[in-house]
Formats: sequence, C-alpha cells, structure tokens
Amino acid sequence: MSEHREGSSEGGRGPGAVRELDRATVERIAAGEVITRPARVVAELVENALDAGAERIDVEVDGDGTDRIRVADDGRGMAREDAVRAVEPHTTSKIRDASDLANADSLGFRGEALASVADAGALELTTTAEREDLGTRVRVADGDTSVADAGRARGTTVEVTDLFADRPARRESLASPAREFGRISELVADYALARPAVAFSLVHDGRETLRTPGTGTTDALVAVYDREAAGHATAFDHRADLGSGGGASGGEGGNGAGCGKESANDAAVELRAEGALVAPAVTRSTREHVHLAVNGRPVANERLRRAVASGYGTLLPSGREPVAVVRLSLPPGSVDANVHPAKERVALRDADAVAEAVETGVRDALTTADLRRSGEVAMDLDSSLAPAAGSDSDFADASVLGQFRDLYVLCEADDGLLVIDQHAAHERVNFERLRDALADEAVPSAAVDPAATVSLDPGAAAAVEEHADALRELGFAFERFGGSTYRVTAVPAPLGRVAGADALGEAASSLARGESDPREAALADLACHPSLKAGDALDRETAGRLVERLGRCEQPYACPHGRPTVLTLGEATLADGFERHGGRR
Ligand code: ADP
Ligand code: MG
Repeated sequence: MSEHREGSSEGGRGPGAVRELDRATVERIAAGEVITRPARVVAELVENALDAGAERIDVEVDGDGTDRIRVADDGRGMAREDAVRAVEPHTTSKIRDASDLANADSLGFRGEALASVADAGALELTTTAEREDLGTRVRVADGDTSVADAGRARGTTVEVTDLFADRPARRESLASPAREFGRISELVADYALARPAVAFSLVHDGRETLRTPGTGTTDALVAVYDREAAGHATAFDHRADLGSGGGASGGEGGNGAGCGKESANDAAVELRAEGALVAPAVTRSTREHVHLAVNGRPVANERLRRAVASGYGTLLPSGREPVAVVRLSLPPGSVDANVHPAKERVALRDADAVAEAVETGVRDALTTADLRRSGEVAMDLDSSLAPAAGSDSDFADASVLGQFRDLYVLCEADDGLLVIDQHAAHERVNFERLRDALADEAVPSAAVDPAATVSLDPGAAAAVEEHADALRELGFAFERFGGSTYRVTAVPAPLGRVAGADALGEAASSLARGESDPREAALADLACHPSLKAGDALDRETAGRLVERLGRCEQPYACPHGRPTVLTLGEATLADGFERHGGRR
C-alpha cells in the first residue's frame, strides 16, 4: 500500500556508511531536546528500523518505558564500525551535508537520536548486517562504550534501560505510567497505520497489546480498532496536480488505484493521498482518530485534519469525528521535516492547495462509495424549518399531534408547529436530570451478568487506566482482561436506564479530553446511551411527557452534544407555502 522506499538517499551501504556531519550542517538542523519522554525513544527507534527497510518491528515496553524499551527489527543491520560510530553525536548514513537536507526522504537525518538516547539512559545495540556471520553488541552506559561479538539474525535490536535515571526533573515531568504507555501505544498505532506493509507488535509488561500483520490498511485497522471499523472502511487513492506552487488544486476525483492523473508538467507538484475512510456508521467523539502521515511519517497537522473532516461533510453528525487513515506522498522538496526537533510536525509548501486536494479526495471517495445512509429523511420543508429561538417558552402550551417516522414528535403550539427530535430531546432531559441528581454523588449502577467484554482502541484503553477512579464514580465496574480488552461487570444505570458496556470507552475518552468539566462531558455521553433511540415508537402520553420535561430543562433547545432538539415551523411559513395570502381561509 504505502509506496515508501527505504531511505534511498543512503549512498553506500557497506561499512563506513555512517559518518560524522560537519559543523555547518549540524547548525542547520532544528535544535532542541529530542528525548523528552519514553514515547520519543520509541519513535526514534521505530523510525530507524523503518529507514533500515524493516518488514517487521517488535516493540516491548516495561512500565512507563523508563524501566525498559526494546525495539527489534529485521532491517539491514550495521557493520561493526558503523554500529560503533552510530551511537556518537551527529553521525548518520542518511545525509552527507546540508545540501542533502532538502531532499532527504528518510525519516531520520540528524544523526542525533542514538546519541541522545544513550545520553538519557543505558543503551544496548545488537546488530548484524547483511552477508555477515558475526554480529556486534555495543553498550553505552554512564558515558562508557563497550563493544563485543554477538549472535543475531540480520537486523537490529536496541534496548534502552534506566531512562532519565539521573534526570529527576525529566522523571517528574512524566505523566502516569498508564498515560505514558498510552502515548507509546498511540504512536505505534500511528506508525502501523502509516506503514501498513510493515508488521508491528507492541508488548507491555509481557502482554501483547497490538499486532498488525503487515498486510495492508484494512488488517491494520482491524488490529488498531476492530472489525466493525475496518468493515466500514472505504479505500481511497487520489492524485492531484498542485501546479507549480500556484496553489490551484487540479484534483480529478480518483477513486480506486490508478484513476489518478499523471502530472504532465515537469514543474508540477504531484500529490497522492491514499488510505482508508471509515464511514458512516462508526465515528468517535474525539479528534485523534484521523491518522495522517506525510511521506511515511505520522504527523499531527490540524489543517489537514480539518480538511479530512470537511471532506466527510454531513456524513458526520455534529460533535462526532471520523476514523480515517490518510497518507500523503509529496515530493521531498515540498515538505520540510526539519522544523520540529521531534519531527512531529512538518512544514508543507503550498499547504492550502494540499488541504484542498485532501478534502476533495475524501469527499469524492465518500460520494461514490456505497454507503448505506439509514434514517435519512428527505424533507423539502428543510429550508423553512428554522431552529426555535431560545425564548422563555417552556412548551407548556404545546399539545402532541403525533409522531412522524418514529423520529419526530409533532406538537401544536402557540407559535406554530413544533418538530421535536425525540432522541436529542431525551438526551437533553436525561443529561440534566443526571447532572442535577448526581451533583455530588456516585451514579447508581447495574450489574452486568454475565460480564460483558469490550475491546477498546489503545487510546481509549489508556484513558480507562488513567481515569479508572472517575469511571468507577460514574458507575462502572471493570477489570482489565488483557491488552485493551476489559471485562465490564457493572454499568451506570442513571434513572433506571442501563448504559451499554461500550459506554466505558466513550466515557473514558470524554474524561481524557479534559474538557473544562470532564464529569459533565462524561455525563453527556452517558445520557446519550440510555436515551430513546430514533426509531422508537412512542405513545402519545409518553411523547407528551417527553415534551413537557424538555420544556423544563435549563437549555431545552440543544442536546448535550450541541445538536438542536426543536424546530419551529411558523404558521406564516405554512400560509406562504399554500399561497393563503390575506387571511386564514
Ligand atoms: P539518523 O537516523 O538521523 O541518521 P540516528 O542516531 O538515529 O541518526 O542513527 C544513526 C545511524 O545509525 C543511522 O544513520 C543508521 O545508519 C544507523 N542505524 C540506526 N538504527 C539502525 C537500525 N535499526 N538499523 C540499521 N541502521 C541503523
Ligand atoms: Mg534516527
């Protein structure tokens, strides 16, 4: 899938490939502390493995990572003299001098990572190069380097122990072990999705928490998310000609590999965006599920993330975020990775055109994909249905006329016809009752018997670990079952309605988002789960109670996630529509 070459800028691969960079080059490299937390060690070691052409990368982590991190690859390995030189500062095989910086297509190029890691902890590197029988073990601890023979199949293993042992300030600045491992776990997932042709595994305290087979994006999605998410994924492959820096996006909707148009112009910048878009049945409440990669490197880029979300358009209910893997290939010259010490961000030349091409590619792919859109009701009245104004109206004067499509409650009121989204309304009612009833006490819970097993994505699992106490206060009882799978034995049962076991992940993610009031955010999600589903038939009495309760809410006009609950169709709009000008009859 990924068309990433292995560090082709590396010249000779024989012994002597690793050299020290000259001063001038070193000075042009974005400076800053590279190793700030355990996840940075993992990122640097994984990038080295990818640059070495590895097809499988196995990561092991103990505790929060300061105890032990081990990354083993089956890449090309190093000859002894290279291995010894590689742990010195500013030594690299990937660029020769500053003139190579702009066109480096390897993930690394600064020659700093191994030296910085060795500086921050104890490092042991075991490596065997191609066509060599004998491997090398280089140990660097407390400034002393020792070299010995070692037996190992082709490839490299780097083990880092006692990270930050003599840096108390760094240790202090680390978050909880669960959170630090959560970061590592998200990072490995990001690389696995950016490089789906490489098999990754992640083991934490002896337990495997992630394994991708290296057989493409869909299988990687199954591993990182689950079958349901992968089953709703649409593969896409879009090419666009960005012009010669002009900013026009000439993207022709390319769906399916090979539909893209080849650049005819030498000066043109060709962009390729490919990956998988999960839609529309599976969405998330947080933003970190848009996995972006630029030239094989996972990156955080808010503008591109927004471009992906815009491409989804109305397929995303408000307040929901997509799950997507979007890999961009751009000519090396139009990406500058040398702007951030950890290379987590990159600078894009022509970022507007790139964002536009990404949005177009996503939209086209989703437009032509066979997405079943359920519950969508075509209504020509749309434009005349204005959101009800937030006056002091409490619906006391509203009387229920009936229900439309088991989705909407229709009411007659003084100011016209009210159309109430029963699901959104119920969420609001539940949310406020929950919030008031539980102002400072635990949420009642109901036993789940037999216990339910939920498997969470790694980020949500980390959030569960971090916010375990808060979740218990919200009425969950659970235990870790292995990896990111949990056994849920009790769930919140606010107001007698029982939440689903899968509410655990959602509530944890809300807490992790650290909104101004995380408890309120979690309650909003909880309120949603036990609410009436769109599509439930309501008798008139129940509908009446719902409307009456909604009217008593502090904020009756929006559900806790911000979607409208009530639309008013004024009498005048109907009169206009029926051309009843000049009076009632
Ligand atoms: P950089 O990646 O920027 O070159 P590093 O300090 O990370 O700097 O690595 C120094 C050099 O060591 C690399 O250029 C590469 O030649 C070699 N190296 C590091 N890790 C590996 C590995 N896993 N497999 C093969 N060679 C490696
Ligand atoms: Mg490196």
